[in-house]
Amino acid sequence: MNRPRLFGVKFPFGLAGLRLGLLLVVPIGVCPVRAAGQGPGAAETAVVFYADRHTAEPMWGRLFEAFRAEVAEERQEYPLPEDFMAVRASELKAGQEFADVIEVRLIGRCDVAEQAYRALPKGPLGWVVRASGEIQPFIYVDCGRLAQYLGPAALGMNEDQRRSAMGRAISRVAIHEWIHIETQSARHESKGIGQAELNSRELTGSRIPGGR
Ligand SMILES: [Zn+2]
Repeated sequence: MNRPRLFGVKFPFGLAGLRLGLLLVVPIGVCPVRAAGQGPGAAETAVVFYADRHTAEPMWGRLFEAFRAEVAEERQEYPLPEDFMAVRASELKAGQEFADVIEVRLIGRCDVAEQAYRALPKGPLGWVVRASGEIQPFIYVDCGRLAQYLGPAALGMNEDQRRSAMGRAISRVAIHEWIHIETQSARHESKGIGQAELNSRELTGSRIPGGR
């Protein structure tokens, strides 16, 4: 069976304006103001996650734990900002300002890694959108498709292990897309997280061989 195409940069057509217009309505300061003076914990870049409201608290914990660990561990090789804060959209406070904001939209249910078997629908696990020649700071991760893809690998895992596996996989898909945004390039690598496709072991294993 062919592996599905996991990542992509979409080149939107007619719906681009509408889609981006909707996404830009966010209650946070997306402005080029330095975060200095915001006090301890202020970061230059906010990575803001949006997810289904049914997403369980333990899933959020696992996701952020994995996301921070992934970025930190590979920081030498990932062209990503070191000073970032990963946060749920619902936890942003009024008046918080960041030099950059990356939005991560998690589509579908992210906290269920073991689901009924269905044919994997065609399409990527994650993508970003290019509009007006620029890769926009919006990341989409299709959790429903990811859960389906990881389903066989998640068999035999308990709930906590499945959440950890999903957290790591979501993180890696998001980091892959974040690199597209930071580098403003649709380029893929021959190994590591920058590959156009990652198998379930590369998505959930303790480490991706080959760095970036
Ligand atoms: Zn890609």
